[in-house]
Amino acid sequence: MRTPIIAGNYKMNNTVSEAVKLVEELKPLVKDAKCDVVVCPTFVCLDAVKKAVEGTNIKVGAQNMHFEEKGAFTGEISPKMLEEIGVDYVVLGHSERRTYFNETDEAINKKVKAAFAHNITPIVCCGETLEQREAGVTDDFIACQIKVDIAGLTKEEAEKVVIAYEPIWAIGTGKTATKEQANETISAIRKVVAGMYGQEVADKVRIQYGGSVKPNTIKDQMAMSDIDGALVGGASLVASDFAAIVNY
Ligand code: PEP
Repeated sequence: MRTPIIAGNYKMNNTVSEAVKLVEELKPLVKDAKCDVVVCPTFVCLDAVKKAVEGTNIKVGAQNMHFEEKGAFTGEISPKMLEEIGVDYVVLGHSERRTYFNETDEAINKKVKAAFAHNITPIVCCGETLEQREAGVTDDFIACQIKVDIAGLTKEEAEKVVIAYEPIWAIGTGKTATKEQANETISAIRKVVAGMYGQEVADKVRIQYGGSVKPNTIKDQMAMSDIDGALVGGASLVASDFAAIVNY
């Protein structure tokens, strides 16, 4: 019912020529993918990568953006700028942005609304620390994030939003949540969405798992009832690995 979506987050890796080379390698490897395929290079690579994937099934996402259209925000990139170069998705609220750049749920919510206003689909990240998981507060903590991050959307927008559940302790660590842990937390997130927008919307929202996803973990993860795809960091930097994940 929900088309899976697998996105590669390149983080602060790859120059323009390296990013283009990577997607050129990826194109033939994922052309028959059954899921939606997204690559998220850095801002400076977006235009070149968008042109490189033109006419293919690969969509392009940014890794962040500001919520204002323009103005005195030195160093920032606006949704209008991303829209003009044809960016399809934007990752918002990644834990690295929350941790290193003090991004708040309130700011993420403004960005989510701004993304929709510019025809860009947000991929909204949420997830707990190891301490929170061990203290048994994972579901409550993530509910607080989501209730603010995706507040105030229309029904049509809420259905389109993509959520990425990424336990912070699993990002870049080689430790994945078990498929059962991931599925349980994702189904708890879906209940939060149902409480906000109704069951019909919640049944349509795609919720990815992210955190050390590799070619040898994806099949089991995708077999779970509530996991609708993956947000992939490290493994998306090698075309054959990302393709193996996409073609799970
Ligand atoms: C990420 O960047 O969102 C991520 C999940 O990274 P990794 O796959 O390397 O853990």
